[in-house]
Amino acid sequence: MSIKAFTRPFTQQEPINQEAIDAATKVLKSGRLHRYNTIENELSEAALLEEEYATYQQSKYCLACASGGYAMSVALKAAGLKLGESVLTNTFTLAPVPGAISNAGGNPIFVEITKDLILDLEDLSKKAEESGARFLLISHMRGHLVDMDQLMEIVNENNLILIEDCAHTMGAQWKDQRSGNFGLAGCFSTQTYKHLNSGEGGLLTSNDEEFMARAIIYSGSYMLYEMHGAAPSSKVFEDIRLETPNYSGRMDNLRASILRPQLKNLEKNITRWNERYQVVETALKEIKGIEVPLRYEEERYVGSSIQFRLPGINVTEAELFIKKNKELGVELKWFGNDDPIGFTSNHKSWKYVGRQQLNKSDEILSSLFDLRLPLTFSIDDCMHLSKIIIECSSEFIKH
Ligand SMILES: *Cc1c(COP(=O)(O)O)cnc(C)c1O
Repeated sequence: MSIKAFTRPFTQQEPINQEAIDAATKVLKSGRLHRYNTIENELSEAALLEEEYATYQQSKYCLACASGGYAMSVALKAAGLKLGESVLTNTFTLAPVPGAISNAGGNPIFVEITKDLILDLEDLSKKAEESGARFLLISHMRGHLVDMDQLMEIVNENNLILIEDCAHTMGAQWKDQRSGNFGLAGCFSTQTYKHLNSGEGGLLTSNDEEFMARAIIYSGSYMLYEMHGAAPSSKVFEDIRLETPNYSGRMDNLRASILRPQLKNLEKNITRWNERYQVVETALKEIKGIEVPLRYEEERYVGSSIQFRLPGINVTEAELFIKKNKELGVELKWFGNDDPIGFTSNHKSWKYVGRQQLNKSDEILSSLFDLRLPLTFSIDDCMHLSKIIIECSSEFIKH
């Protein structure tokens, strides 16, 4: 092969900017890292982040917490999930999603996906009716939004309580509504590989005051809920404060301090991610036999990663394809493996959930490849890696 190898790491995010480093240094010098450790009328960094994220998200309330997975499990509890209840969710998602359902005492029912990597709405209707489940935890996996208008029809018809996993759709929109604002709650992650980076962290948003009051008490507020930003008024807490347990999962001021300056750059970064995404998408789409998921016109996505399929590829070929890319420095994830490798997970590896038949999704996942597009990649880098993928795919494309 004549093509030059790609040498940039796929796991390298941009450095934390100077403003965030200065803010973190200030918190460190103060020694007041705990979110409720404030002096006089000081608003903590965590409370300020909650206010600023609620404003960005256009939601009334926001809770900063320990992780995206924590936000989801607290959301399910605060929404009233009872032990052993079913929760509908996507087959194609990441381990924290069934994990959050399990942590909250629920049982996942996996709904099939389509080849555009979104929820199969026919299967959703069918399973909602058959199961009588009260909850849908939709995972906008890899940032692909389902037709939200059609989804909401099904949600309303079946009286489903909708919670959105927006780990990959922070900043995304359907028409002019932000992902996360369609149901009872939106759950976001600020783990390093998402759209804001505090190492670990989560944000939970909602417009429902009683839901949010419960979530705040669950998160471990030590009855200091009046020190929250973007929280319901204290009278909403009166009835529930003593009947809601403390499941400590707070965010600290250090993490909040580095997230606040990053939030100011989020819109700019979305444009940068999408420039990179569109370069790779355009290149791959030109090749007959490589399928890139379609996007709706109504969707404003955040292209922080890209997926494509090589329909008809078998296990041996898929492994060889990955190996060839790797030799040229391109790290692909493949969702067809029964055994989890790194973050690659498949419902078959979640053995704590009873085995479910998901033939349609299995078929799609067996030919699905995925790669991150960190902002440390230049546009030229994106063209370069596209060429490598195309070159390596030629012998595996079925005509
Ligand atoms: C990262 C991620 C989450 C939440 O992750 P945490 O590591 O718990 O913050 C949830 N859903 C998906 C699809 C994710 O990729």
